[in-house]
Amino acid sequence: MSNTKVKRAFKFRFYPTPEQEKELLQTWGCVRLVYNKALDMRHTAWYKNHERVNYSQTSAALTQWKKQDEFSFLKEVSSVPLQQCLRHLQSAFANFFEKRMGYPKFKSRKKSRLGLEYSTSGFRFKGDDLYIARLKEPLAAHWSRDFDRDSVSTVTITKDKADRWFVSCLGEVVVEKRRITGKTVGLDMGAKDTLVLSTGQKLSPRDDRDMKKKLAKVNKYQRRLSKKKIGSKNFAKAKTKLSKAHVQVVDARKDWIHKTTTQLVKEFDVVCIEDLNVRGMTTSTRGKGRKAKAGLNRRVLEQSFAEIRHCLEYKAKDSGGEVVAIDRFFPSSKTCSSCGYINDLLTLNQRFWTCPRCQEHLDRDINAAKNIQAAGLAVIACGDGVRPAKKPVALQAGTRQRSRNPRP
Ligand SMILES: [Zn+2]
Repeated sequence: MSNTKVKRAFKFRFYPTPEQEKELLQTWGCVRLVYNKALDMRHTAWYKNHERVNYSQTSAALTQWKKQDEFSFLKEVSSVPLQQCLRHLQSAFANFFEKRMGYPKFKSRKKSRLGLEYSTSGFRFKGDDLYIARLKEPLAAHWSRDFDRDSVSTVTITKDKADRWFVSCLGEVVVEKRRITGKTVGLDMGAKDTLVLSTGQKLSPRDDRDMKKKLAKVNKYQRRLSKKKIGSKNFAKAKTKLSKAHVQVVDARKDWIHKTTTQLVKEFDVVCIEDLNVRGMTTSTRGKGRKAKAGLNRRVLEQSFAEIRHCLEYKAKDSGGEVVAIDRFFPSSKTCSSCGYINDLLTLNQRFWTCPRCQEHLDRDINAAKNIQAAGLAVIACGDGVRPAKKPVALQAGTRQRSRNPRP
């Protein structure tokens, strides 16, 4: 068992002094301005002259802007996050050109989330104290876990919808290789937030008592907000309360995802899941009924399943486990996991069914998870080939293909 070093970001809450808050908000204002100006510059250059503008050109432009009286206030804030946002813009365009992302958007005061990135020249650790460029005092951060401060290469400051400030430190950690357990598992996404294991276990963040309370709060504030007059002061107050309750749910769910995926990767050598990228692009016979009912919920659910998959993948990669994503066209629900009989008569709201061939009584989700496990193991055994013939070839995981307007 060997250990390896991997990059990992650690996020901590911190409480800025009024002075720090003012400075950080001012810096954020400048970052938005610089980002938007640089985006406009690239956009205009393309439309007017069909020229591409690169990072160093935007960086040179920033130097010029600072010299103009109109924008001299840019000199009042740390130059590091300004520089970093131009780098971000560069990668946003690179992602766009490689069709991984949409066209970069302008940052807005209201809609964009505050994010300030500092590279090594913009911060310094002195013991436990973290000093950020232009801030006199160190950040009053709650270091809830230990990490190697010398390895930190990037520090990012963010503020969420509930007005909480966070500092994220990107550093290196040593991860232990996992023990081989010889166990495999199949995962299926059940109704609501449930994660169904081929072992028969059903896991859900909603089972947690705290989560129930948090969800109840969201409902309560939602109801209250609906009774307020839109645009009134009370409406604004109720809205803040609602978003505070909402971030708590989001945080608790994230926490649950982390705990659950860590546990799964520890317990099982191979985790088999369904490939959702494929699901999103086809009209699946299975999702339809629920989709009609759940609508938006369904999308939230798929997003959290995508997050679970992402966590499983990097945790497995770090520790030497494996995640196998199987093709969506595999009829995981209607195949009997016991004898392989395909029940074409299975309806969407049938939670349980009895196999007409082998008389096995099946729970829809557990049965699907078992089939996913079997299919995943088949993928490992024979490379790739659980897909029934005739069907179109699925896209690779991680790639998105949508037609986009040809823009710079
Ligand atoms: Zn059967």
